[in-house]
Amino acid sequence: MKVFKFGGASVKDAAGVRNLAHILRTQAQQGAIVVVSAMGKTTNALEEVTRAYADHKTDEALARWATVQSYHEAIMRDLAGADWAQTFRGAYGTFLWVDTVLRQKPTGPFDQIYDQIVSVGEIISTQIVAAYCGAIWADARQLVCTDDTFREGKVDWEQTQRAIRGFVNSCGDGSLIVTQGFVGQAAGTGLTTTLGREGSDYTAAIFAYCTDAESVTIWKDVPGVLNADPKYFDQTVLLTQLTYQDAIELAYYGATVIHPKTIKPLQNKGIPLYVRSFLQPEAPGTVINASEGQLTTPSFIFKVNQTLISLHPKDFSFIAEDNLSQIFGQFAAAGIKINLMQNTAISFSVVVDTNPDRLPALLDLLRQNFRVSYNEGLELITIRYYDQATIDRVLVDKKLLLEQKSRYTVQLVVK
Ligand code: ASP
Ligand code: MG
Repeated sequence: MKVFKFGGASVKDAAGVRNLAHILRTQAQQGAIVVVSAMGKTTNALEEVTRAYADHKTDEALARWATVQSYHEAIMRDLAGADWAQTFRGAYGTFLWVDTVLRQKPTGPFDQIYDQIVSVGEIISTQIVAAYCGAIWADARQLVCTDDTFREGKVDWEQTQRAIRGFVNSCGDGSLIVTQGFVGQAAGTGLTTTLGREGSDYTAAIFAYCTDAESVTIWKDVPGVLNADPKYFDQTVLLTQLTYQDAIELAYYGATVIHPKTIKPLQNKGIPLYVRSFLQPEAPGTVINASEGQLTTPSFIFKVNQTLISLHPKDFSFIAEDNLSQIFGQFAAAGIKINLMQNTAISFSVVVDTNPDRLPALLDLLRQNFRVSYNEGLELITIRYYDQATIDRVLVDKKLLLEQKSRYTVQLVVK
């Protein structure tokens, strides 16, 4: 079985859905498991619906939801004409369900409410795609079992494997199955969970792992994995082959082309991952596999909105195991991921994503034991397989605040 994943950009309008169907007709004759994200920017829009709803602003929530609904309705009308509600009965039913929910009082913690509403984007997109392609619609909430960490569900691999295998076997060989990315369910609760923003790639890897798939293909609006984000660089190079290790390193440092959690399950089973263009489905793109050999082209990853935090123990004690474990514990409890760290005898510096919701409270906590200085509005540049010429090139007109080099990777914090 092959696993395909289509992101929001590939199904942002009716032409996108038609193109997806064309790709399945030409590339999935033997069947496939097709993982689809929410259409276009629906997830962002649903986040706004959720905020209003959780704030008891019912009218605003309903108005924002109406916009999401008419966006999808326009796509369905384009695909099926005036009879769209007949053709897309599932999606129509989901519309009615959301309408009812938004008129009820919100209950439970925000993250839990978030998952129940934001997941609707994937439910509707797959109901549309499955109906249009004549595929079997699989409900990922019945298949991907997680714990109850809402917005970052941790997968229970044993249960998930049992559920996915059972379902796929019941569909029979050669079936075309369409399911939601990003979505799961907290075991025993009946509550929907999500796997973290941009988590649909990870869903594709989960399905591939559980079915011992022959390959995963992520269909993107770029020709494959490039050595730099074309948003920041005009001269990019397509990397035709990458090792799992290089792919995980690039994704970890912030290359947005693949979600970082995607590689591990595939590497563990030796399943190749293809990254190809849905605009040029004939082109080979990039393959990520267990190949030997190292890249020769330097790859760049830019992360903007970074904050550099430096901690100095007030009593001049060394930065050592005991206070490090305390510091890490406080970052973990605050839900803040460290992108880079460096220490000297009596100072410890970390670079994190700027997060106005969570950082101030953490800084207050750290100030109990440390003198804290921080610097916002920075960029974190990571270059894998660097050389001095590329470092010099990216530093033009920039002020370097911190640099860290390992054998293959250099990281630069700049202003
Ligand atoms: N729709 C979700 C998001 O935008 C998941 C995904 O696209 O992978 O975060
Ligand atoms: Mg998306």
